[in-house]
Amino acid sequence: MNSLFDNAIQSIQIGIEDYEHDDPKRALSAVRNFYAGTLLLAKEVLVRKAPNASVKDVLGTKFVPVPDGKGGVTFEANNKTVDFNELGQRFKSFGLSIDRSALSELNNIRNDMEHHYTNASSKKVREAIARAFPVVVDLFKLLREEPTKHLGESWEVMLEVKTVYDKELAQCEASFANVEWKSDSMAKAPRICPHCESRLVQCNDPNTKIHDYAASKCRQCGADIGSHELMEATLKKFFEGDNYEAARDGGEPSLDRCPECSYETYVMSEGENGCAWCQLELGECLRCETALTPNNVAWDTNEMCSYCDHIMSKDD
Ligand SMILES: [Zn+2]
Ligand SMILES: [Zn+2]
Ligand SMILES: [Zn+2]
Repeated sequence: MNSLFDNAIQSIQIGIEDYEHDDPKRALSAVRNFYAGTLLLAKEVLVRKAPNASVKDVLGTKFVPVPDGKGGVTFEANNKTVDFNELGQRFKSFGLSIDRSALSELNNIRNDMEHHYTNASSKKVREAIARAFPVVVDLFKLLREEPTKHLGESWEVMLEVKTVYDKELAQCEASFANVEWKSDSMAKAPRICPHCESRLVQCNDPNTKIHDYAASKCRQCGADIGSHELMEATLKKFFEGDNYEAARDGGEPSLDRCPECSYETYVMSEGENGCAWCQLELGECLRCETALTPNNVAWDTNEMCSYCDHIMSKDD
């Protein structure tokens, strides 16, 4: 009856079947199908919000003006439709609430699977499904549909996947419980493996308090992760969106390379101004009182901006 919704359900079910085969060759197909189904579900939410509009107009991303024959123009959608990245904005314009960062994260997870994993363990697939799970739940809520009714057995598998993943994630999080991070952002950001971007990173010594000694291991890919590597990867991911916007609009990034320790751990966001690794806090330039950032600070002193430093060295 309703092809978009039916296709969504079917894709999710095929994805779950692929996952259940536990065959590395079907890992990519599992994630591809599951994510395609999730995207279709989201599209169905949009279509139901504007039932009298054409589907093409609701989901289109590029509209070109064409003469309407009466001296004006109308806009026609071409065949490109919204993807995970554009969905958040479209939901917002449609007055629908959804976790936008979760959506764009799905885009990253799927692309990452496409580019790096032609073969992957079922554990990797499990994480990809578990991370998409809350979004799927939200979409079903917006559709006022019962996932159990439509997904049947696949829904049971999804619940199990989510439970297993959450349990493992909780163990990983508990292993860092004693670490006293010197940065609010670092304390609240989900920790990420620099090699595979998994969140299943476990601290080697659960008693460790000092962040410099928080060496860890990835339970997904098995990599040993040094403390500074973990912090750089975690903060980079956490501020990815902000830094992207800053680069596009020409503003200061929220995360930059520290002029003191040279790790990419200098945070400038929401009242936080300092290096999460070495705790350097840049103040004002001694000569012109400009607020110093890793971007404008002189290369040989943390007390002056590079311009003033240049002028002063000429005076010598
Ligand atoms: Zn890893
Ligand atoms: Zn530093
Ligand atoms: Zn200055």
